[in-house]
Amino acid sequence: MFDAAAKMPRVSVLMYHQVGHFPKPESHRAVYCDVSRFKAQMACLEWGGYNVIPLTDACNGIFNGAFLPPKPVVLTFDDGYQNFADEAWPLLRKHGYPATVFIVTRLIGKPAKWLDDGKQARLMDASTIRSLAREGVNFGSHTLTHCRLSQLDRKEQRAEIMGSKSELEDILGKGVADFCYPYGDYTPGVRDMAAEGGYRSALTCIRGAANFASNPFEIPRKAISYGDSLFGFFWKLEMKHARKDSSSHNPAHVIQGCSFNGKKEH
Ligand SMILES: [Zn+2]
Repeated sequence: MFDAAAKMPRVSVLMYHQVGHFPKPESHRAVYCDVSRFKAQMACLEWGGYNVIPLTDACNGIFNGAFLPPKPVVLTFDDGYQNFADEAWPLLRKHGYPATVFIVTRLIGKPAKWLDDGKQARLMDASTIRSLAREGVNFGSHTLTHCRLSQLDRKEQRAEIMGSKSELEDILGKGVADFCYPYGDYTPGVRDMAAEGGYRSALTCIRGAANFASNPFEIPRKAISYGDSLFGFFWKLEMKHARKDSSSHNPAHVIQGCSFNGKKEH
């Protein structure tokens, strides 16, 4: 952590996946957020005086010393589900909140086939992505195939990290600055590849305030889970700042921060 970080407002980068109407999930609870809870959470951010800022402003504040407003919050949505367009974005627009969505480029318009929940929700197609980009949504890359990057060789890692960047740039017609490790799975080599490949940031599943990032390519987040009450949501915003990950105990140097209820998440 940078020295100045102690004086900085704590930046909460919230991690969502699907927003919609779901039966109570047996597992992977951090992948689902009921739309009525999401609605209440977004309203709470407003009532509670939080400032929802773009990911780019958060990065500039934490790593370049730019101004950060009090109580800053960043909203991120992994995988690019169609229910982001249908359920989340209309609510975010109403509040004027910016958001970043991470796209799996080879699965655009297809089911999220890596999910083992039997439902395999649909992912947004290219025209939906383009139209949301025109409305101000920031899109980042989440690899080509939603792979576990630590298990690939360097050539495959490069294709997943860099190939997805150029595919998404072709769809959007503009540069893609942000990356997100599927399953929060990466190694120091993967992190360096993202850094050298022209990304500005990479987001992990390491828990904690984003200020505790040791560099822009290992940004911690706070996962909002299906079971989070409004109190739990506030608790994560206000109290869950300390960084929590188990990478130092992992002899393979594989960093996998996404573990909730004993299950690996996405
Ligand atoms: Zn994912």
